[in-house]
Amino acid sequence: MRIAGQSMSQITGVKKPLSHTNSLTKLPKHGVETPHEDELDKYYEEIDKWGLDMFKIAECANKHPLTSIMYTIFKARDLIKTFKIPSKKFINFMITLEEHYLDVPYHNCLHAADVVQSVHVLLLSPALDSVFTDLEILTALFAAAIHDVDHPGVTNQYLINSSSELALMYNDESVLENHSLAVAFKVLQQEETDIFVNLSKKQRQTLRKMTIDMVLATDMSKHMSLLADLKTMVETKKVAGSGVLLLDNYTERIQVLQNMLHCADLSNPTKQLEIYKQWCELVMEEFFQQGDKERSLGLDISPMCDRYNATIEKSQVGFIDYIVHPLWETWGDLVHPDAQEILDTLEDNRDWYHSMIPMSPTAQELSAQEAEGVGPVRDLAAAAEKIKFQITLEEPEDEEEYEESAEQLE
Ligand code: AMP
Ligand code: ZN
Repeated sequence: MRIAGQSMSQITGVKKPLSHTNSLTKLPKHGVETPHEDELDKYYEEIDKWGLDMFKIAECANKHPLTSIMYTIFKARDLIKTFKIPSKKFINFMITLEEHYLDVPYHNCLHAADVVQSVHVLLLSPALDSVFTDLEILTALFAAAIHDVDHPGVTNQYLINSSSELALMYNDESVLENHSLAVAFKVLQQEETDIFVNLSKKQRQTLRKMTIDMVLATDMSKHMSLLADLKTMVETKKVAGSGVLLLDNYTERIQVLQNMLHCADLSNPTKQLEIYKQWCELVMEEFFQQGDKERSLGLDISPMCDRYNATIEKSQVGFIDYIVHPLWETWGDLVHPDAQEILDTLEDNRDWYHSMIPMSPTAQELSAQEAEGVGPVRDLAAAAEKIKFQITLEEPEDEEEYEESAEQLE
């Protein structure tokens, strides 16, 4: 006889943790054994900076950039001591978590490491100085580390459309985000990888609740409502005499943390152009691989996923104009003026991608006429752009707003 719930008790994709530290007498300085420790040392001098090159770190970190960055940040912030995290367990947990990131072009352990480091820098914002408790900081970094674990490189919509087991399991609601949370908490259940063993019951409960709230907020279908609430917060924001934000209750505190993780998750267009271009190539390749799968299954090909009919540059301009810039601009207002440099880079990058949009023959001709002063054709090339995003929005009123923005581009 089957016991109710039994068939659903299995979280797919979770492997038994292996001990990765048994043979070690001394833990490596940056969490992973590597012949490139000196180079890592040099790169980590920039760990508090927005410009850190995660691709270079990955080359030196022996395939474990996520473990290395988490260990380095946790040590620098003294979190290992504060929460009495057994160091070997920490490394075991991180390597196990990292090995649960899949070998897909974009949503892999490198993206997770990048989001962790971005959250680390955002937490250093002067406007947030001493605002968050140690437990909130621990949770924010933990949530960033786990937020895409076991991501298969396809979107929620694809999982729903292809009637996947995962969509079935989570009734089509934030499928990937729910799954990543379940995988991470399952790994934590094993004794060898239970890094929160010395937290009180109350601390564990709070950490779990905040982690769930933060990771679920990375679902892009929540983007518009998250941003609308952030705008309201900015309009009514309270600041102490010292200039730091005053956040009175759980709702306000978690809202800032959710937006911080969401900003970090959408931060690749705000990084130096050479780094942003690398992320862009990876994310587009992942979209194209999804498009290939959709083509072979006879499904409609999702926006931006058709490798034979895509203009990457246009997609990036649209992604920045309608999603990334509005978010970062609002975050910039919240922590003003701390994010000014980030916003400047984002705007420069947007202009660069805009300048790289290949022009159609008609647009070229019109542009030449314009140069000769023959016609009022200023925005024709832009008007011809058709930009669509990989984003399904949740609320009907938000959809209207989104469709309006999309229509402007059609
Ligand atoms: P996540 O899946 O948690 O990483 O959420 C971030 C969302 O933004 C995903 O839908 C990504 O595919 C998308 N995204 C991130 N960077 C880019 C980019 N440069 N161009 C287009 N979409 C992006
Ligand atoms: Zn992500």
